[in-house]
Amino acid sequence: MSSSPEPADPFDQRRQAVASGLAERKLDGLLVAFSPNLRYLTGFTGSNGSLLITDGKSILFTDPRYQIQAAQEVTCRVKTAKGPLLMEVARAIARLGLKRIGYEPARMTCDAYESLKSRLPMRASLEPVKGWIEELRMVKSPAEIARIRKSVETNSLAFEQAVAHVRPGMTEQDLAAELEYRMRRLGAEKPAFETIVAAGVRSALPHAQPTAARLKPRDLVLVDMGAQRDGYCSDMTRVLFLGAPTVKMKRVYRAVLEAQLATIAAVRAGVSTAAVDRVARKVLRGYGLDRAFVHSTGHGLGLEIHEPPRLGKRDKARLQAGMAITIEPGVYLEGVGGIRIEDTVVVTENGCEILTPTSKELRAI
Ligand code: ZN
Ligand code: ZN
Repeated sequence: MSSSPEPADPFDQRRQAVASGLAERKLDGLLVAFSPNLRYLTGFTGSNGSLLITDGKSILFTDPRYQIQAAQEVTCRVKTAKGPLLMEVARAIARLGLKRIGYEPARMTCDAYESLKSRLPMRASLEPVKGWIEELRMVKSPAEIARIRKSVETNSLAFEQAVAHVRPGMTEQDLAAELEYRMRRLGAEKPAFETIVAAGVRSALPHAQPTAARLKPRDLVLVDMGAQRDGYCSDMTRVLFLGAPTVKMKRVYRAVLEAQLATIAAVRAGVSTAAVDRVARKVLRGYGLDRAFVHSTGHGLGLEIHEPPRLGKRDKARLQAGMAITIEPGVYLEGVGGIRIEDTVVVTENGCEILTPTSKELRAI
């Protein structure tokens, strides 16, 4: 359930936007099967569907398992296929006399491509279309931002509830399970990605998986977690100290926090993603820690946990108002530990709004 403001049928509006862009791409139709794109264009949440958008109508193809669900979720025409979906799609392409059909090359298997191609009428062709729907998805509507906000709040509350139980002796897996249990109890469908809990020297692995290792007194514990709620993702990283941190880690924490705050202050519509990334690196350079920052500064998020734009050294996109992105500088010192601080923010004309409510003060428990 969502009480967020939503225009009458945002999905129909999105499909119309695609339909009206077909001509300039010299296409008669676009085939979409990648599920986040499918969800964005139809609201369909099933695992097997293909959407054919033409300039007159859209048809969602699915199988009998999703017949009832599709009728409830989707406002365009739904065709339930008894056999393979692509056979039905090929039939529709022939019936509608479509010649040039766009498809998502990054999202279609070679097998599906060959199978569809072999069933098309003689004069029909498949044309690769790269990142069109992902580009539309980059700027969020107010209703989407309301959902991301709810996801972020759910995630932060789950973190607070779980942190109350953190103590030496529990394993990384125990804490990951507690975090995920809490987020589900609070209304998330599932975690947006595999929760990262990494204690002690393992925190120097930016994408560590939780292990059976027990948390020890004076460990630092890096937690990177996100919820998926109402389809939309959140993403946050915080570091907890079990007891007082060492002087060295205190300094690293201060450096990363300073980098994160300076980077957030640089976020604004019109700024290039590479320029935002440079801010984080510059602050860390001042501490002699820039070479220990081994990933990009952030990424877009929405129906997927990682979406365009990416905020890295070589990324040239410009931020636009309504983009939801993460800001997450980190420093990783082998044999010592890692610190990352990550918030989810929404870009505005004059800056950004930080959605993540969780404190970034150094937290020793
Ligand atoms: Zn994260
Ligand atoms: Zn992230």
